[in-house]
Amino acid sequence: MATIIDGKASADKILENIKQKVSELEKSRDRKPGLSVILVGEDSASSVYVKNKEKKANYVGFNSSVYKLPETTTKDELLALIEKLNKDDAVDGILLQLPLPKHLNPSDFLDKIDPKKDVDGFHPVNSGRLLNNEKPYAVPCTPKGIIRLLEEYNIQIEGKNAVVIGRSNIVGKPVSMLLLNKNATVTVAHSKTKNLSEITKKADILISATGHAGMVTADMVKKGAAVIDVGIIRGNDGKLRGDADFDTVKDIAGAITPVPGGVGPMTIAMLITNTLELYMLR
Ligand code: NAD
Repeated sequence: MATIIDGKASADKILENIKQKVSELEKSRDRKPGLSVILVGEDSASSVYVKNKEKKANYVGFNSSVYKLPETTTKDELLALIEKLNKDDAVDGILLQLPLPKHLNPSDFLDKIDPKKDVDGFHPVNSGRLLNNEKPYAVPCTPKGIIRLLEEYNIQIEGKNAVVIGRSNIVGKPVSMLLLNKNATVTVAHSKTKNLSEITKKADILISATGHAGMVTADMVKKGAAVIDVGIIRGNDGKLRGDADFDTVKDIAGAITPVPGGVGPMTIAMLITNTLELYMLR
């Protein structure tokens, strides 16, 4: 049976360390790290995510603020808020919670966040730096958390076959780049990929980020592989599930992240880590 990768325990440890660091920094610096989160509209999943982010930011002692804007917010209004936060010296990290309401195009706004305050690492300057293997000001949180988990569990990346299912800008593409920059041989699969299981069966590290519950089955996994399950799907029974069919895949894999309690908590821990790193830059 696979080692269960305990993302919650790793995340708790990271948050504890940061809390300690913030209380020490308070003695030498005149202000705490500041995180500002912008939430536009009423998306219920987003509201839960934002609440969790705020809770963890407060826990470690950051100055956190959440800007809740109505669904009807105009492009100019949102741009004005981003501009105000860009200029605010008390703000180190700006996070624009996605998805936005349909009338607002994310790239119109993500491009306007100061790259040195771009705590999600989605600004083209930061994604370009990731592509060029130059240090971005911030690396996207979920991919960064995945690499941290692999490292923490001593799962070798260099020279290994890594297969990433999913090519989103938030998870699939940036995690592929991080793995490539760490010398893995990376294959990116997606909804148009043919013979997916032939590809996944060659993976020493299999990362799935599709949002289709249970689509990664035991017969798609190489014996002993590390399976990182990014998917979060709420079933009709109210329970959260991942992309992997956990109960059968765990008997084949060498290591696996559970859902919940795997990648999810690490994403928030990396948001907090990124905020602190951006604070230290200034
Ligand atoms: P997305 O919808 O933007 O991308 C999904 C990707 O999966 C696409 O690239 C698509 O080509 C691919 N795909 C879809 N069906 C496929 C199939 N049958 N075979 C192969 N590829 C297929 O999603 P996203 O934003 O990357 O999120 C993916 C999942 O990860 C969602 O469940 C989301 O909730 C979750 N997520 C979790 C965290 C976390 O912190 N754990 C963070 C971000 C996203």
